[in-house]
Amino acid sequence: MTIHIPFDNSYARLPDRFFTRLAPTPVRAPALLRVNEALAHALGIDPKALGTPEGVAVLAGNAVPPGAEPLAQAYAGHQFGGWSPQLGDGRAILLGEVVGRDGIRRDIQLKGAGRTPYSRMGDGRAWLGPVLREYLMSEAMHALGIPTTRALAAVTTGEIVLRERPLPGAVLARVAQSHIRVGTFQFFASRQDDDALRTLTDHVIARHYPEADTPLDLLDAVIGRQAALVARWMGVGFIHGVMNTDNTAISGETIDYGPCAFIDTYHPETVYSSIDHYGRYAYNRQPDILVWNLAQFATCLLPLIEGDRAQAIEAATEAVHGFAPRFQTEWTQVFRRKLGLATAEDGDAALAHGLLEAMAAGRADFTLTFRGLADGSAAAAFADPAPYHAWEGGWIARLAREGATPETRATALAAANPAIHPRNHRIEEAIAAAVDGDLDPFERLLATLAHPFETTPDARRLGHPPAPGDEVRQTFCGT
Ligand code: AMP
Ligand code: MG
Repeated sequence: MTIHIPFDNSYARLPDRFFTRLAPTPVRAPALLRVNEALAHALGIDPKALGTPEGVAVLAGNAVPPGAEPLAQAYAGHQFGGWSPQLGDGRAILLGEVVGRDGIRRDIQLKGAGRTPYSRMGDGRAWLGPVLREYLMSEAMHALGIPTTRALAAVTTGEIVLRERPLPGAVLARVAQSHIRVGTFQFFASRQDDDALRTLTDHVIARHYPEADTPLDLLDAVIGRQAALVARWMGVGFIHGVMNTDNTAISGETIDYGPCAFIDTYHPETVYSSIDHYGRYAYNRQPDILVWNLAQFATCLLPLIEGDRAQAIEAATEAVHGFAPRFQTEWTQVFRRKLGLATAEDGDAALAHGLLEAMAAGRADFTLTFRGLADGSAAAAFADPAPYHAWEGGWIARLAREGATPETRATALAAANPAIHPRNHRIEEAIAAAVDGDLDPFERLLATLAHPFETTPDARRLGHPPAPGDEVRQTFCGT
């Protein structure tokens, strides 16, 4: 069976200084872990073909399929606020792009595909843990309806990757509307390469924002999509963990699942990432960090914005200032839905903040609190339910002003609040089993996360908060 991937590669047609052309480095003994059949189908790829030895060879980087134009993308970025003029795909190779059945163009990228000119000290590889983690996290995010990169497939390499100990190597086939980041713009802006900036801007507008007429329109549109994205992260208790400018996608998708995590017991300053010593990327700091990243993006676009430098700065500044009210609107919409409110009142944001404060004070489980609003079990998600009971009266009074039937409201609440999120201890459990050759926990977790709004026995079991000894307090980059 020959594998046919209907490639149509627009990024590879950009100037040479945007990337380095190179093929993935072959691995010793590729073996299939999983193919995302529904996604393959949506991309116009035969899922069965991906599972054949020929397909697995492609997914592992041992064969370059017809039509692929493999390359590593160049980018730069601010990492934890510090400037890195040269980053780029150090362990990922873009095979090419396909236009899916929905008409949307997407990248297919192999993550863990070997060294590139951008690898610096790294080995260009990934181990099984982060590959399965990204698979679970990104597919869970997709099922929650939040824009994200996707997992098309995962393979093992038959090679050992050296981290804190020898670990099994793996490759993730990742799909994104594009892998263009704020850092891609920074790469050219920092080199004062206005021609490249113009070319990149035209490419991004054509690809992601055809409604934008000017670079300023593009800035505005990216700010809007990113504001909506991070508001939705906040609504599911997601902490990205490494919101560097090279991990902020221009498409408005969640990208680069490293030490990310969903909150179990709510606290606004929660940090899981082992490398985030000062809480720069804590849960409640995400909107502030995002606007900082967007300000970097705005700075990159200055040479392209109409008028003289002062006028360009004024227009870009105004766009960035627009972030705060736009984010606030998005956030309020997200939480209004989570509270089962179909109408809008001025006090709604304060009501939602009141619940979050009660959750922090009462040490409540994030997901189970909101899910519990649907069936009256929210108080049970609190270690100390007193703050919840103090808050509840205001919510009930607010609901009474809506006039919806209790049944309608319960249905709306259950549709807005998932029964399950990918819990850190369950992810760790699935990875540990997979390292021992048992993929069942991974498969089961993945299947359950695909329907996060359904209360099945598996959702109840896998969605249960960790027992005191099972809590995962730190997550790792896994590079
Ligand atoms: P990340 O923190 O995963 O977004 O990666 C930041 C930068 O480090 C990117 O340029 C990556 O390509 C690079 N990088 C991360 N891990 C590795 C690795 N194992 N080998 C080579 N480059 C890596
Ligand atoms: Mg990254």
